[in-house]
Amino acid sequence: AFSADVVPQAPEDPLFGLMAAFKKDSDAKKVDLGIGAYRDDNAKPWVLPVVKQAEELLRKDPDLNHEYLPIAGLADFTSASQKLILGKSSPAITDKRVVSLQSVSGTGALHLGALFLTRFYNPAAADAKTIYVSTPTWANHNQLFSNVKLPMKGYPYFSKETKGLDFDGMVSTIESAPEGSIILLHACAHNPTGVDPTQEQWTKVAQVMKAKRHFPFFDCAYQGFASGSLEQDAWAINHFVEQGFELMIAQSYAKNFGLYGERAGCFHFVAAPSSDAVDEVSRVGSQLAILQRSEISNPPAYGARVASRVLNDEKLFAQWEEDLRTMSGRIIEMRKQLRSKLEAKKTPGTWNHITDQIGMFSFTGLNEQQVQTLREEYHVYMTKNGRISMAGLNSHNIDYFAESVDKVVR
Ligand code: PMP
Repeated sequence: AFSADVVPQAPEDPLFGLMAAFKKDSDAKKVDLGIGAYRDDNAKPWVLPVVKQAEELLRKDPDLNHEYLPIAGLADFTSASQKLILGKSSPAITDKRVVSLQSVSGTGALHLGALFLTRFYNPAAADAKTIYVSTPTWANHNQLFSNVKLPMKGYPYFSKETKGLDFDGMVSTIESAPEGSIILLHACAHNPTGVDPTQEQWTKVAQVMKAKRHFPFFDCAYQGFASGSLEQDAWAINHFVEQGFELMIAQSYAKNFGLYGERAGCFHFVAAPSSDAVDEVSRVGSQLAILQRSEISNPPAYGARVASRVLNDEKLFAQWEEDLRTMSGRIIEMRKQLRSKLEAKKTPGTWNHITDQIGMFSFTGLNEQQVQTLREEYHVYMTKNGRISMAGLNSHNIDYFAESVDKVVR
């Protein structure tokens, strides 16, 4: 029943393929700049000290068992997640205009939101039922939205010339999209480019989207990880909420808690302020619960328990903020060093974008040929588009990396 013309061999996931190739490489100098997971200065995964503390508390808790969580997840976790992303005193929370479901990390939240939109989003113009994503965007967005048959289009985002934001292209495409289109926005630390709009630019994007009654869907996978400040990294989302938008948020705790494999995340729907908002949130929440039930029944407990301990305890929360500054601080330091090493070598080209960009990734501007040479001759692994995970750089390999880049660029 499943012959090759019915089920052709699918290509391997490029990122996980890259990881396998790196593992196989036996050269001592090899450098892994592929996968987006934090590494410490010894290129090792880092369990956050605050996560260790929370895990210890969980181990000692005599009341813990392995019963199912509710369909919407752990309530202490989802309510703390609302406060984290919208701010403790957000009018959206006090007005009870938010409904939240625990999700299978950020991916699961994006999927749940996308599924809900395919079922229930009915803009006046039929061609507005399209999600606009940045060009480029996180590769999985494409698969994720096509999986639920949500039509997708791109808006310009990255300027090859400046290696910064193509703001005019972004705004004009969003402006000319059919009224009521869905616009996917990276809340901070854009993946793969590391390029974020300024607050002034976000303000303009919000104005244009409001005039066109577009629907914002925020993907927030790096809160606290980009600038080191949780508030600053949620600024764009809160600006849109203040402007009275109805919107969705996919919130991941993979990076900022280092809980990658535990799949802790949350989906939020925020209704616009109106006399019907509380009722709307109840109706939307009831349908989301049915979708959730049919797909995963109940979300996974462990990661949410760890995060919930931290989010609901002042002392642990303060420790978490320190851990976030450790991670973001190391990454920012690597950016500074990489730029200054390349500039010191007078490597052809400009390198200010390395420090202008923010978060886990940098779009280096290296082309596919250079990326291939780096991999084959220098044992340096990165994605074909020239994206590097800054977390893969450390005090032991940064000189070697800068030298290798210098040689392939010349
Ligand atoms: N969105 C973006 C932009 C991401 O970079 C990631 C992580 N690579 C995610 C969502 C979701 O990750 P996860 O499902 O592990 O939370």
